[in-house]
Amino acid sequence: MRTKNKKGLKELFDIARRSNTSYGSPIAIPVKTVNDRSPVVEVVNHVIQDALEQNASDIHVEPGRTVGRLRYRIDGRLETLYEEIPMELYGNVISRIKIMCQLNIAENRLPQDGRFSYDFNGQEIDVRVSVVPLINGEKAVLRLLNRAGGFMDIDSLYLLMENKEKFFGLCHEASGAVIVAGPVNSGKTTTLYGALHYLNDSKKNIVTIEDPVEYQIAGINQVQVNPKIRLDFEEALKAVLRQDYDILAIGEVRSDEVANMLVKSSLAGHLVFATIHTSSAARVIFRLLDMGIKPFLLGTALKGIVAQRLVPRLCPHCCEAYEVLEKSSMAKTLGDAYEPGLWLYHRRGCDKCRRRGVMGRVAIQEILVIDNRLQQCISNRPTIGELEEAIRETNMRSMWLDGVEKAKAGLVEIEEVMRVCSE
Ligand SMILES: [Zn+2]
Repeated sequence: MRTKNKKGLKELFDIARRSNTSYGSPIAIPVKTVNDRSPVVEVVNHVIQDALEQNASDIHVEPGRTVGRLRYRIDGRLETLYEEIPMELYGNVISRIKIMCQLNIAENRLPQDGRFSYDFNGQEIDVRVSVVPLINGEKAVLRLLNRAGGFMDIDSLYLLMENKEKFFGLCHEASGAVIVAGPVNSGKTTTLYGALHYLNDSKKNIVTIEDPVEYQIAGINQVQVNPKIRLDFEEALKAVLRQDYDILAIGEVRSDEVANMLVKSSLAGHLVFATIHTSSAARVIFRLLDMGIKPFLLGTALKGIVAQRLVPRLCPHCCEAYEVLEKSSMAKTLGDAYEPGLWLYHRRGCDKCRRRGVMGRVAIQEILVIDNRLQQCISNRPTIGELEEAIRETNMRSMWLDGVEKAKAGLVEIEEVMRVCSE
């Protein structure tokens, strides 16, 4: 598959090089000469099509000193696809991308961003483009959104049964705040959408404020933030609070003002979901306190926290089981999670997973449900020690132990769980 695409691209670039001498200019192709049969147009279409077929989330088009490079992000990792983009055509490729999202092709010294829609086998894909000048030329990153097959429903989140019950319990709260936390690329938005998808029904007014809107869900009112026209999270929130809503979802809490509005509306009897860029459940609480939320308001408003990471899913067709021996270093690393007779799994690689050994990703989570005791603890502005102690008493399964469970089930490699848990 990979070699076929590589060959396809090489041929396309060769045709482009031969076909039109006017392509020698470093940046500008006059818009009029770019018709749908131009070789450069075909190159760009081929790349987008191929990236979508490989289920990539981003395409990186990068200039070098002698050749340009093409990389895809697949399942969270960057993979090099092609490293021989002739530099005499590189500018034309960037210009074509700019034309697709109506950017200024004559401007090559300042960053620009835009978007366009791409028809992928009848399905509309939203592509967000960012162009940034580097020392050797402009780099374009294309983010592919609205992908089908992204995990939208609860089952594709791979929640353990006990966590699934907790998650549904949080979704059924009449009011309060539910926070989904994790670093960039930890699947926060997917979990948020999972909850909204589950709650979606015509008897509720569900509103989201997002940047960007990654998936469109029929029946849900999704607001796209647009700071260029001063529609930021704060403005959008103020407006939708007047729209008779039942359930609100905030794409990401970044400012004190948004955090404040989040708490206010959850105390006013609404169910509010939000994502926040933080590593663990405990840290969410400190982060919100740092954002100026009063401890007793937070204690009352907060219903639960889902903290998560994404881990590559082992290919079920080729992964290999091995026994973890009692005196092995792995048994030591696992500590309390080790039990004699434990089997884990390694990746191998086959045709079905394109020799990667992994396909797709699995989320590992910790779900903290705020009980009375924890509410009390938060209201008294706890120290880290006090909060950790209170969390321990709730018997929450930590992200690490959730990952161990999934490693035992052959879903993920234990090394990957260790890697993301130590991040
Ligand atoms: Zn495989």
